[in-house]
Parts: sequence; structure tokens; C-alpha cells
Amino acid sequence: MNNASTPKVGFVSLGCPKAGSDAERILTQLRAEGYQISNNYQDSDLVVVNTCGFIDSAVTESLDAIGEALDKNGKVIVTGCLGAKQDVVKNAHPNVLAVTGPHALEEVMQAVHANLPKPHDPFSDLVPPQGIRLTPQHYAYLKISEGCNHRCSFCIIPSMRGDLVSRPIGDVMNEAENLVNAGVSEILVISQDTSAYGVDVKYRPGFWNGRPIKTRMTELTKALGELGVWIRLHYVYPYPHVDEVIPLMADGLILPYLDVPFQHASPSILKAMKRPANSENNLARIQAWREICPDITLRSTFIVGFPGETEDDFQQLMDFLEQAQLDRVGCFTYSAVDGASANQLPNQVPESLKQERLARFMEVQERISAEKIKHKIGTVQTVLVDELSETNDGEVIGLARSAASAPEIDGVVYLKDADGLQPGDFVEVEIIDSEGHDLWGAPPRN
Ligand code: SF4
Repeated sequence: MNNASTPKVGFVSLGCPKAGSDAERILTQLRAEGYQISNNYQDSDLVVVNTCGFIDSAVTESLDAIGEALDKNGKVIVTGCLGAKQDVVKNAHPNVLAVTGPHALEEVMQAVHANLPKPHDPFSDLVPPQGIRLTPQHYAYLKISEGCNHRCSFCIIPSMRGDLVSRPIGDVMNEAENLVNAGVSEILVISQDTSAYGVDVKYRPGFWNGRPIKTRMTELTKALGELGVWIRLHYVYPYPHVDEVIPLMADGLILPYLDVPFQHASPSILKAMKRPANSENNLARIQAWREICPDITLRSTFIVGFPGETEDDFQQLMDFLEQAQLDRVGCFTYSAVDGASANQLPNQVPESLKQERLARFMEVQERISAEKIKHKIGTVQTVLVDELSETNDGEVIGLARSAASAPEIDGVVYLKDADGLQPGDFVEVEIIDSEGHDLWGAPPRN
């Protein structure tokens, strides 16, 4: 099928799953139009670099990637979050062919067409209905909206990606159905703010398989739950209507897993951060969720050392941590992001104090996580096999995840004697041991 006259596009993708989802759309369109995707610079007629610009280190990594593509190929189109800052890209690399922002499929394709005309006979039949995916075959990210209506003071995503635009629910469901038909066993719902899905279109109904469904998180989640695969929700803010999805978890329709980025617990810091749902009583909400769905796994992320954070604010966060008993937690020290309004706030916290608070935070959470993980030993769990590897002794070890773990960010379950298993298999295992955040599983004894 490949021949010398088929135009070839190289593709470099950096950044978060949301950027990966943009990349998949561009790759799908390129293939639909008959371009070949090349995996090296030398064979490519041009290279698209999908960038990330969230923090300073991501900006540097993205600029380096653009520089490498220019050195090795010379014809480069830049897209993604850093592309929203045209001047930064153009100042560093004036020779790029075009710069577009994130979620800019049409602009990227226009730039590709302008520099590498599309083939006369597109091989549209080469594109599978589920599109081209960057994740392994058995799980996939499903992006339900783009942009964000909030203005958290530490974040510049809204200035790069704009206000919330929800994808039509029919399109989202068709994509999900195609993924399942293509063999995907787990769908990870992503966006900047999953709980806000449909706010921009006033929750208007769309259609899936001729059936009206409201463009709203609860209705979307119910419909996804009908597909019979694992459904995992990410980036959910604790608004009251989130309570509606917890019974769906208890009933086994979707995974009992909620990724809720709380970021802090002190009301004055949450206010200074301009966090969504900052006035909700999150501890009461967590308790109510656990009463409805005792198996729920709660993941969250926090920032310590935000400007103005006093010892009292930090202590409130530590108290929250002790009481909330979250299962999965990430913590970062506050770092200024170019263009974020928090940079102007008074009382910036010295770096040494930020690091000290991070260490205190992690010490408490490590203890909580270790206690929680110990309780899993002896339980029987269904796990999804992600990968297999062979030890030097020839033993096949499986790398799997239970409902309590999202890929790439949470702990895994190692499986002994995994010979005969395949990535994408669901198996029942007994948890026999723990190691840090990870677990070891073996076939149940009876
Ligand atoms: S909710 Fe806040 S942190 Fe998240 S994308 Fe929107 S502005 Fe940024």
C-alpha cells in the first residue's frame, strides 16, 4: 500500500491525555485523506508537533521538540497548547511553517494541505471507524468537551483553549460505540471539567441511535454504562449533581472511581485559587458518596505553597487529608505559570517552605495510602491486563489494573504466572501482597 509518491507526515505528540486526544483526531484525518504516517523524521515530508504549554518545563520540552524536528526534517507545523502562544514559538523557531493552538484540526489540515498537497485518491477505506488511537488497543480516552468556563488563578488553560464547548452527545456516544466495537474494554472520560458537560448548550438533548439524550454528565454516564465496558470518570468537580452518578457506580454501571481535583481544603486558599465548587462541604459529600458506594476509589490532586498559604491554611489541608482518607493523591508545590493571575498575588511562599510542606503532606498521605492498600490483601478483584513481560528466568509477569486504578497515574497489580494472558483480558485474582502503591495478585485459591 505504501509507495514513494504517498505523502508522508511525521507526528510528535507531547502532553496530557487531552492533547493525545487532539493528536488522535489529526492522525485520523490525515489517514482519511490518504497521507501516510511516518515514524521517523528522515522519511517524512513534513512533521506536525503537538505541544504542551502548561508549565515552564513543558514549554521547554515542546520548544526542544520543535527544534529537533526542524533540525532533522526542516518542515514543521506546530499545534497544541503552546501553539496558543504564537509569539513564543515564532521567537524561538521563526522557520516553522505554521502555528495553531489546541483543538485546531481544521487549521492543522489547512497548513498540511498548503505545504504537502493531499493525494488525489484518498484511501478513506484504510481508516477504521474508531479512528487512529495512540493508547493500547484495550483502553481509550474519550474527550467530551474542550475548554473551560472557570478561571482558576494558577491556570492558563482557558486562555489557551477558550471557554467550554461540549461535543454533541450523539457524536460522543457514536465514538464510544465505535471504540467498543473495535475491542476497547475501558473508556476513560476526559475534559477540563467533566461535571460541566452540557452547560454551554443548556443541556439540550441530542440523539444517539434515534433516542433523545440530554447533553449532561449524568445522562451521558448512564448511556456509556450501557456499552458494557469499564467507564472511568476523570476531572470531575464536586458539584451537587455529581451525587447522581454515585448510585450508577454502586449498581456497577460505571467504575466506582472518581477523579476529583480538590487542590486545597482551606476556604480562603480555594477562594484565592478561584476554584470551582469552592464553597461545597467536601468532607460531608465524600462521606455521603461512601455511604452509597462503599467501594468507591477517590483520586485527587493538591497544590501546597499557594501564595498567601499560612500555617493555619496548611493545617486545614492536613486535617482534611486525615479525615477524607483519599485513596489516590498527587501533590505539587505551587509554581508560577507564565500568564497566570496568581503570579500577582501577595505573600508568595518561599521555596524552602513549599518543599517542607510537600514533605509533611506526603508523609501523612503515604501512611494513609499504605493502610488502605493493606486492606486489599486477601480480597478477590477483577483486573484488566495491560501488558506482559518476561523475567530473566522466563517467567511471564502480567501488569494489570483493578477498578481502583487508572492507567499511567495509579498503582498496578502485578500478576505471577501470567502465561497465556493477553493485554485486554479481564481476570479474577486474589491480592496476595503489596509493594509501595502496587499490589501482587494470583489466581484465587478457590
Ligand atoms: S477548572 Fe480551573 S484548573 Fe481546570 S482547566 Fe479550568 S481554569 Fe484550569
